[in-house]
Amino acid sequence: MKNESHAELSAALWPDAKQVPAKVLECRHCGRKNRVHVPRAVLEPKKCECGVCGQPLFLSPQEPLTGITSSAYEHALDRTTLAALKAIPGFPALIRWLMSQLGERSLKLLNLSSSVLCGEDQFPELVALLERSRASLALAQKPTLFLSESPHANAMTFGSEEPSVTIYAGLLDQLDDSEVLSVMGHELGHMHAEHGLYRTVAQVMASGTHLLGTVGQLLSFPLQKALYKWMRCSELTADRAGLLACRDLGASLNVLMKLAGGHRPGVTRRTKMQLAPFVRQARALAKMEEDNWFDGLLATLMTMDSSHPFVAWRVMHLLEWVEHGNYLEILAGHYERAKHPLAA
Ligand SMILES: [Zn+2]
Ligand SMILES: [Zn+2]
Repeated sequence: MKNESHAELSAALWPDAKQVPAKVLECRHCGRKNRVHVPRAVLEPKKCECGVCGQPLFLSPQEPLTGITSSAYEHALDRTTLAALKAIPGFPALIRWLMSQLGERSLKLLNLSSSVLCGEDQFPELVALLERSRASLALAQKPTLFLSESPHANAMTFGSEEPSVTIYAGLLDQLDDSEVLSVMGHELGHMHAEHGLYRTVAQVMASGTHLLGTVGQLLSFPLQKALYKWMRCSELTADRAGLLACRDLGASLNVLMKLAGGHRPGVTRRTKMQLAPFVRQARALAKMEEDNWFDGLLATLMTMDSSHPFVAWRVMHLLEWVEHGNYLEILAGHYERAKHPLAA
């Protein structure tokens, strides 16, 4: 799966030139409106200049999204499913109790005892990529980074007070630097949007109930369903953060394709996964999502050893955001900012 050129990527994503989406964006320098074609703006933002003042319409890949709030890129499904979860009577108290039983300290010990702690003298290249993603998103909070030996293509974020990001070697094996930036940005997005607490509980429940003894079984089925459904939807917000961190749609899509199973040596030796058919597959999902059965599927299925399934569904939502959401507005410098604590 070699990275596509802009022309190849554009043809795979928008095969019909007549149906290429367009957007009207305000220049952050002179305030005048500019009409841009989405493919060009997304794939070659450097070439997009304001037709009036000639200044760049979009931030360069190195420019930080200073002060951005997670609600600037939060997916509506993430917001509504989390609200539904919090509205279940007794849920907040239950979460507090579960975490007091398990605690961030235990999770940290688990990581420290079974993964490699990354730092200046241990996998500094990985730390540098995490820092680049953190700088793009302009996040103040700095998570601890762990690398864990596992054949699974996965990464996860634990904790809320002292968050940590764990990347599995099985995922890193398959990714180039831009793709790693996207993965790091995805995990940082979970941290920024404060998903840590609930995701930690869900992950422990799904894969490590032995850590909790019978505690996991105390969660009622409706509550588990609501938690797992939100867990899926929280990925959509994190995928957006991943794209904002790497600002390379090809890289973000390649990561998702690789998660979908397209990059095992046994596969790549025989054949090559193609982006265009996979995008068609993802776009075909849009209609199906409107049906009720999808909602049920989203809530009920929890793949035990994978925290990033439903990949084509995520591709569909990411493309939808790029075409019709506020991705380009954010890169044009228009986004919701946190109020400065010292401002009056
Ligand atoms: Zn201008
Ligand atoms: Zn995730």
